[in-house]
Amino acid sequence: MKVAVFSTKPYDRHFLDAANAAYGHELVYLEPLLSSNTASLTSGFPAVCLFVNDTADAKTLDILAANGTKLIALRCAGFNNVDLKRAAELGITVVRVPAYSPYSVAEFAVALLLTLNRKIHKAYNRVREGNFALDGLAGFDLHNRTVGVIGTGKIGFIFAEIMKGFGCEILGYDLHPNPKFAEAVGRYVELSELLSSADVISLHCPLTPGTRHLIDREAIALMKPGAMLINTSRGALVDTEAAIEGLKSRQIGALGLDVYEQEADLFFEDLSNEIIQDDVFERLLMFPNVIVTGHQAFLTTEALSNIAETTLANIAEVEQHRHCVHEVKAEQQVALAKALA
Ligand code: NAD
Repeated sequence: MKVAVFSTKPYDRHFLDAANAAYGHELVYLEPLLSSNTASLTSGFPAVCLFVNDTADAKTLDILAANGTKLIALRCAGFNNVDLKRAAELGITVVRVPAYSPYSVAEFAVALLLTLNRKIHKAYNRVREGNFALDGLAGFDLHNRTVGVIGTGKIGFIFAEIMKGFGCEILGYDLHPNPKFAEAVGRYVELSELLSSADVISLHCPLTPGTRHLIDREAIALMKPGAMLINTSRGALVDTEAAIEGLKSRQIGALGLDVYEQEADLFFEDLSNEIIQDDVFERLLMFPNVIVTGHQAFLTTEALSNIAETTLANIAEVEQHRHCVHEVKAEQQVALAKALA
């Protein structure tokens, strides 16, 4: 099938081209993000392939339908950027990649935690400048510490298992407890108990109307003073301004973010020659005990290869009029929002 691949980065191209040897789709790589301003580029493409910051709202979908597009293949798990109801009305099928490598994200959360705890980010710079002093580099043993995991699904469960391997006590909070977690990894508690008992808190639940600013001023006030907070899930789970206050008062001892509330204006682009206008983001970067990465937790060769393979298989199934198990329907979006709100 002829596919317009939006917001293409070099690594997308590399992994999609490799996987496409087995499918033979006609992939046309486009750098712009999909929006109503760029939707005219879909003319002549029965399929488009999108990532997290492409926007397929009603206005954009109308242009896609007029251009003859019948399929949106998301190369990501989330589908909050597609108006599924409008897509269904226009007869556009939407497919996604529900899972690609939960290990990639769980392991990255551990990397942020270890870097912040043992100050590797500071040590790296010091040694390069010939400064071998150790002042200010002390961390703490993870053994016997308490780690709180909010969201114990695919990624949260693996993160919890890894931290258990460090000898930590694991506390979990989830709207839908995972029996495997309670059997073998940790103990479920109320959110307030998790917040007040954990030395490290890691977020692994999805962003829904019910989880937006889950970590707000009240939640931060409940945290153990000096606790570390890690967010590799979605930026808006954390009220960033409240987190900055928490860092200033030292209620938050360290903050590791791979995601940020306003990341769509910043992430995935090289802005090194620009003046960043987001003062909240810039303030975050001023703290010595904050690490921000640009939504890279998923970026492993295994994950990229799985994403490419599933995306192209989804397209082939739809092209051959076979049932695609990874199709997402409008009812699913409504049901998911209701269930998780
Ligand atoms: P999953 O669906 O397997 O697990 C999510 C868990 O969160 C489920 O157990 C669910 O019951 C729980 N949950 C839902 N609402 C909750 C609430 N209000 N409070 C507590 N728990 C709640 O998803 P997953 O594959 O483990 O992914 C988790 C999140 O990781 C995704 O939602 C996504 O936002 C994020 N993610 C980030 C990256 C990255 O590169 N940084 C990549 C992939 C996924």
